[in-house]
Amino acid sequence: MTVLVTGGAGYIGSHTCVELLKNDYDVVVVDNLCNSSEISLRRVAELTGKAPCFYRCDVRDTAALSDVFRRHEIGCVIHFAGLKAVGESVQKPLAYYENNLGSTMTLCRVMLEHGVKQLVFSSSATVYAGNNPMPLSEESRTGDCSNPYGWTKYMCEIILSDIARATPGFSVALLRYFNPVGAHESGRLGEDPSGIPNNLMPFISQTAVGQRRELSVFGNDYDTPDGTGVRDYLHVVDLARGHVAAMDYLKAHEGAAVFNLGTGRGTSVLEMVHAFERVNGVAVPYRITERRAGDLATVYADPKRSEQILHWRAERTLEDMCRDSWRWQSQNPRGYQSGD
Ligand code: NAD
Ligand code: UDP
Repeated sequence: MTVLVTGGAGYIGSHTCVELLKNDYDVVVVDNLCNSSEISLRRVAELTGKAPCFYRCDVRDTAALSDVFRRHEIGCVIHFAGLKAVGESVQKPLAYYENNLGSTMTLCRVMLEHGVKQLVFSSSATVYAGNNPMPLSEESRTGDCSNPYGWTKYMCEIILSDIARATPGFSVALLRYFNPVGAHESGRLGEDPSGIPNNLMPFISQTAVGQRRELSVFGNDYDTPDGTGVRDYLHVVDLARGHVAAMDYLKAHEGAAVFNLGTGRGTSVLEMVHAFERVNGVAVPYRITERRAGDLATVYADPKRSEQILHWRAERTLEDMCRDSWRWQSQNPRGYQSGD
C-alpha cells in the first residue's frame, strides 16, 4: 500500500517514513520544507535502502496535491504538515490558522475527490483543558486552549470528526502526542529546530554541545516532587511506530477515534537534566528562572486505550531518549546543515 505522508521531511515525519518503509509500505512525501530539509529524506533512504517519492509543495496547493493523488494510488494519508511553535502562534495567529486549518481542509477535499478515506492526524496533548486531573485520558475535557496553535489542533479534530460522521467509509485516527523527544538511534535523523529552541530537550542538547551557555529552568516552585515542571516524554521512534499501529486500526474501523500517545510516566525538568548528564557524561549548566507563562505543573498521559486498542506501547526509556538525542546533536551540531 502507498502512504502519503504530509510534512514527511520534518522531525516526526522523517522517523515515521523509516518505520513505514521498514514495514514495506511505499511512501510518498509532500512537504514545502518551511521547517525542514530534504537531507532528512536522503537519510531516510540511506537508513532503509528505499527512497520516499518526494514532492516539494504546499498541502494547501490544491492543483499540486491533486496531481500527487493522480500519480499515485494512495491508500492512507498521515498528516503531519503544520506549524507547531506555541509562542510564534501567539504572535502570528493568522499564519497558524491559515496553515494548519487550510492544509487539513484542502487535504480532506482532495482525498475525498480521489476516494481516499483513511487518515492519521497529528494532534497534541495541548487540546486538553488546563484543569483536568492527571493522568489525561481521551475522555478528559478538551478546549480552553491557551494559544492559537492548540486551538488549530482542537479545531482540526472537530473538522475531521464531522467529516468522518458525514462520509461513509471514512476513518480517521486523531493521535494526541505528549512530548516527543530523542532521535533515530543511528544519529542520522533528529530534531533540527530553527533558531532558539522552545522545547526542553533540544535546549538541553544544544547547551551540552556548547551552542547555548545555560538552560533556563522555568520555575522550581511548582507542586511537583522537586518543584520543576513534569511532562510525559516519549521517544520519537516509539511515536513513529504508533502511526503504523494506527494505520492497522484504520483498515478495520470507520469513524473518528482518539488516542493518546505517551508513556504514562511523568519526568521533571531537573530529572531530565540529570538523566542527560549521567547517560552521556556531559554537563548541562542550568539556572532557575521565572515560570513560563501558560505552563502547567504536571501533564502526563493515560495510554491505556492505545495499549488495548492499537496494541501499541512506548518501549524506549528515558535513558534511550537522552542517549539518542545526544548522539544526534553531537554528530550533527548544526542539524542537517552539518552536511549530507
Ligand atoms: P516539523 O516542523 O519538524 O514537521 C512539520 C513539517 O511540515 C515540516 O517539514 C514543514 O516543512 C512541513 N509543513 C508545514 N506546513 C506545510 C504546508 N502547508 N505544506 C507542506 N508542508 C508543510 O514538526 P514535527 O515536530 O515533526 O511535528 C509534526 C506534526 O506533529 C505537526 O503537525 C505538529 O503540530 C504535531 N505535534 C508535534 C509535537 C512536537 O512536540 N514535536 C507535539 C504534538 C503534535
Ligand atoms: N522548560 C524549561 N526550560 C526550557 C524549555 C522548557 O524549563 O528552556 C520546561 C517547561 O517549563 C516544561 C518542560 O520543560 O515544564 C517541557 O517544556 P516543553 O516546552 O518542551 O513542552 P510543553 O511545555 O509544551 O509540554
